[in-house]
Amino acid sequence: MSRVHLTSRRRFIGQLSTAATAVALAPALRASKSVSRASGERPLGVALLGLGSYSTYQLGPALRETKWCRLTAVITGTPAKGRRWLKEHDLPPGSAYNYDTMERIADNPEIDIVYVVTPPGTHRDFVLRAARAHKHVICEKPMAPSVQECDEMIAACRAAGRKLGIGYRLEYDPFHVEMERFVRDPKFGRLQRMSGAHAFRIGGRSWRVDKSLAGGGPLPDVGIYVIQAACRAAGDIAPIAVTAQEGKKERPELFSDVEESMRWTMEFPGGVVCEGFTSYNADGNRFRAESAKEWVELSPAFSYSGLRGRSSRGEIEFAPFNQQAAQMDDFARCILENRETPVPGEMGRRDIAIMEAIYRAAATGERVTL
Ligand code: NAD
Repeated sequence: MSRVHLTSRRRFIGQLSTAATAVALAPALRASKSVSRASGERPLGVALLGLGSYSTYQLGPALRETKWCRLTAVITGTPAKGRRWLKEHDLPPGSAYNYDTMERIADNPEIDIVYVVTPPGTHRDFVLRAARAHKHVICEKPMAPSVQECDEMIAACRAAGRKLGIGYRLEYDPFHVEMERFVRDPKFGRLQRMSGAHAFRIGGRSWRVDKSLAGGGPLPDVGIYVIQAACRAAGDIAPIAVTAQEGKKERPELFSDVEESMRWTMEFPGGVVCEGFTSYNADGNRFRAESAKEWVELSPAFSYSGLRGRSSRGEIEFAPFNQQAAQMDDFARCILENRETPVPGEMGRRDIAIMEAIYRAAATGERVTL
């Protein structure tokens, strides 16, 4: 059973313990920024590595809204994309690197953080290279295809004295913060059951169905959100055992390398159970936690925006919130304040260990302990 940095998360939740304070977070950050600016702190520079859809449609726009970090460079395999980003984001010439020349970022003091946004099978190498260039690193989820790679990434950042965070944007989303607060409330009683599904219908062939690049199918890509939510609601702990069944393939030609769908059960200490489902050939986006007398549910639960929540006490409502901006700003604040990120490499590793156990359980039909 592992406990991942509950202290830093508690500190963050402390700021968000009610809907009203959650909505008030942005002004609070702005106020603290002006105070710290007076003491000479500057927003940190971010280099986005991998300019695919998540960078283009989420992280790039979010970096226009961050208070504590700003886009200062891009690292890409496609020079034309790099030139387009420099123009669109008003970056100076020379701030686009390619994968072969990225070691030169070591000489650019405008880059504090490298944000790795490429397929998971490439994360380890890019994280190691960024750490060797003495940069802090945010690595997108899933952290890597194997625990062994996660260990190498954690060790490299530690050896370089740099922070490693995972792109777990929902850590900051007010609905998820509220769900955690609700489940912790003594009036909720003892958590007994959880269930969650994250699934979508994938179009055609891409790295997402290539095991060496993706690390698996929907489980590491979107099922990981159910794993995350369950560990969080259970008290920031890993399950003690899992069982799993891979679903029958309706499109075997597309899913020759990876699972098309997966059902699994996570057993937490004290008899708490979570039923999970993920698929690339179905729809699903919900999470629910129950005690004997109360319940709380998010549906949709894992989207970038438009989340909805209900509980045994009524509707849960929050103002629109930029998850990615909050996530990157908090990582920057962790660097500036030299504190632990609530979404460290160790948490990414925990989830990959659970994923590996689920694959083992599905392959053997046995209950796998962690
Ligand atoms: P994408 O396919 O749109 O983009 C991937 C980028 O990586 C492309 O620019 C591609 O050129 C580059 N790349 C570098 N090396 C590559 C290689 N060997 N093979 C293929 N492409 C390579 O994918 P995406 O949706 O932007 O996902 C990128 C990462 O972000 C993944 O780890 C994914 O899980 C993660 N992601 C996270 C979220 C989130 O909500 N946190 C959402 C979407 C994607």
